[in-house]
Amino acid sequence: MLVEGAILDADGARPAYVHLRKGRIVETGRLGTDGLRGRGPRVRGIVVPAPVNAHTHLGDAVSVREPPAGTVAALVRPPHGYKFRLLSETSPAAKRGAIRSALSRMVREGVAGAVDFREEGRAGVDLLRAAARGLPIEVHALGRPVARPIDPEELRRLLEVADGIGLSSAIDEDRTVRRAVALACRRAGKPYALHASEAVREDPDLYLDPRPDLLVHLARATAEDLERVRAAGVPVVVCPRSNALFGRQPDLAAMERLGLSVLLGTDNAMFHAPSVWRELEFAYVATRLRRRPVSADFLARAALVAPWRWLGVPDAARIAPGTSARPVVLRLPPDDPAYQVVTRVAEHLIVPVRSTPGRRGRRR
Ligand SMILES: [Zn+2]
Repeated sequence: MLVEGAILDADGARPAYVHLRKGRIVETGRLGTDGLRGRGPRVRGIVVPAPVNAHTHLGDAVSVREPPAGTVAALVRPPHGYKFRLLSETSPAAKRGAIRSALSRMVREGVAGAVDFREEGRAGVDLLRAAARGLPIEVHALGRPVARPIDPEELRRLLEVADGIGLSSAIDEDRTVRRAVALACRRAGKPYALHASEAVREDPDLYLDPRPDLLVHLARATAEDLERVRAAGVPVVVCPRSNALFGRQPDLAAMERLGLSVLLGTDNAMFHAPSVWRELEFAYVATRLRRRPVSADFLARAALVAPWRWLGVPDAARIAPGTSARPVVLRLPPDDPAYQVVTRVAEHLIVPVRSTPGRRGRRR
C-alpha cells in the first residue's frame, strides 16, 4: 500500500509518502519523488504510529449498566466501592470475556498498547494475561497487592507476573504502603504508578514521596503542584472523559505550558469505551469549553509519542523503515495532520495487519 499525504510522529508533521507492506514500513520519502508507481493500492492520508492507551481499568468492563449516581469515591474507591463489589461478584470467566472484548475493540482501532491498573492481586494479573492471549496488543499490567498492611511475600509474587504496580491514591494508601511498593518496584526494575489529585487536591509532598514513575489524573492539581511534578520529572496520564463525568478537568493548558510529559488514558471501562481517539477529541473540545485551549499537536503527542517514550521504546513513535513503529493509516486530508487526527479520526482508520505476531512482553 502506498500512502500519499503526511506523516505525524515523534518528529512532528510533514508531507510525505509511506510505502507499507504487510503492516511494516518499507520506505518513506518526500512527495513528488519519482518511482512511486507499481506499489499496490494508493491511499491519500496521514500515517501515524499506533497509539497507546496509557491508563485503563479493564476489569471494570464487566459493568454493563449505567453505574449508580455517586461520588468517584463511592464508585471506585478500594476496598468497598461499587466496582470492587462488582468485581468480587463476577466470575473469572465473565471478567476474562469482558476484558478480552475491550482489548479487541482497542485492536480494531489500531491501539498497540495498554497500561492497565489491574486490581485483585496476582490472580487479577493472571486473568488479564489470559484475556489478552493471542491479541496483537501489548498489555502492561500494573498489578495491585490485596493485603494491608503489605505482605512482602504477596508483593514479591505479584511482581513476578506484573509489569509494575498501580496503586489507588495517597489518600487511600498510607506512606508505609507506598514506600514498600516503591522499594519493591525499584528492586524489580519495574514502574510504580499512583493516582493523584483526582477528586480532591492532594499535597505533592505526599504523592511525590516516594517518587512514582507515573501519576494519573492531577485533575485537582494547581499550577504550582504541576510545577512540582514537572521538576520531579514524573510523567502524567490524563483521563479527561473520566474526570468530566464527575465535573472536573485536568488543566491541560498549564501542563502544555509547563512542559510536562503528558500521556492519555481512558480510565475505568465501566464509564467509557476504551477509545483513545474519542478521548483525544473530547480532550480537545473540553479545553475549549474551559477557555483554556491546548494545541492539537500537544494532544496528538500524548497519544502517539509520549507513551512509547515512557515504555522505553521511543523509536516505536517514528514512522521510518527499521523502527518498531506499528503504522496506522488515517484517511484524512493531510494538510493539518495533528488537527485532523485529534478531531475526526474515529471512522477513517486503516489498521494494516502484520505478517507476524506483536512483540508482547518485550518492553519491560
Ligand atoms: Zn484510574
